[in-house]
Amino acid sequence: MPRLGVLGYPVAHSRSPAMHEAAFRALSLEDWRYQRLPVPPELFSETVRALEGAGFLGANVTIPHKQAALTSADEASAAARAIGAANTLSFAGGRIEAENTDAPGLLAALPEPPLGRSALVLGAGGSARAVVWALLSQGAADVRVWNRTPARAEALCAELGGHAVATAAGADLLVNCTAVGLRDPAATFKELPLSADSLRNYGCVVDLVYSEAETALIGAARRAGVAVVDGLEILVQQGALGFRRWTGRQAPLDAMREGARGSP
Ligand code: NAP
Repeated sequence: MPRLGVLGYPVAHSRSPAMHEAAFRALSLEDWRYQRLPVPPELFSETVRALEGAGFLGANVTIPHKQAALTSADEASAAARAIGAANTLSFAGGRIEAENTDAPGLLAALPEPPLGRSALVLGAGGSARAVVWALLSQGAADVRVWNRTPARAEALCAELGGHAVATAAGADLLVNCTAVGLRDPAATFKELPLSADSLRNYGCVVDLVYSEAETALIGAARRAGVAVVDGLEILVQQGALGFRRWTGRQAPLDAMREGARGSP
């Protein structure tokens, strides 16, 4: 029985099991299994080493393990090394290979390629690093980074490129890579340098945060008539890349969307 899973702590909220199980059903991969793997940080490395022996072909990795996933691997893609984090592990012959599919997942979800475009990225954590790297690697002309703790935005830009900003001005693309909006929708326009009206100054609004209901940011952008990409679409696109690698099959995107958007 081929096994896959998602490593996180906590991981109960993850939509990845429902998303991948929907894909298995759509392709009649009846003996494949995908499970939650709640692993505390101090056990991450030894757990990952044991997974292949337990029948796992690979695993997705979420908070707080993405950096540890990179350092635990025997090999890593250029993107994972540049970003400094991995969200997809593959196991074969006793070796662990690490990739970062958050970056290509974002690019696949965008309505237009970022070549020559301007972007404002909110946040300077792991997902912001993947987003800034993805946009610059595809020729975005102007990538600005705002963060609650400005020194982290400055450090990110010094390492990856782009420039740190203290205020939000309009751009072709707005990408929320902060955790704001996850638990308290009312926090969105208090803790981010945005108002609902200011969303008209962006060509497309992307929110990495996803929750059962539409986030306040996506809802306000939609009402303002701005193109939107929500966090579940990015989850589906990054998950599809791992799915293809592990199963060798094209990912059934519509089934994965339906699985991800259903009950956890
Ligand atoms: P992270 O590394 O922990 O970074 C968190 C970021 O949020 C930091 O920039 C932090 O700013 C900022 N932040 C937290 N609370 C804030 C507040 N109250 N006000 C303003 N800024 C605040 O997390 P991450 O891995 O980048 O993930 C960020 C979000 O993206 C999470 O909700 C995660 O679930 C989501 N995500 C979704 C996908 C997907 O597939 N859809 C993929 C990756 C991540 P400071 O530096 O000031 O602390």
